[in-house]
Amino acid sequence: MSDQSFQTFSLSRRTGTGTTYAERVYGFLVEHTPQPICDDCIAKATNIARENINQLTSILGLTRDFGKAEGTCAICKGNKRVTRSQRYA
Ligand SMILES: [Zn+2]
Repeated sequence: MSDQSFQTFSLSRRTGTGTTYAERVYGFLVEHTPQPICDDCIAKATNIARENINQLTSILGLTRDFGKAEGTCAICKGNKRVTRSQRYA
């Protein structure tokens, strides 16, 4: 992930301390590295609307640190599109 991408998300490099939607989603996914998690479970855990989660995980999925693909969610065990952090795996 380039520094420019970081600025786009306004992310803090200290995960779990952010207050923006992007920071909360990012921190949640990094905390759960390398488990794949679906948008629904991310929405519930971060208390953010699912539409916003979908947008954020779609962007994160384009970066080198995250992947978005069909898979089994580590939390609800559903087969759907999941996002996982590869950053600290
Ligand atoms: Zn799930």
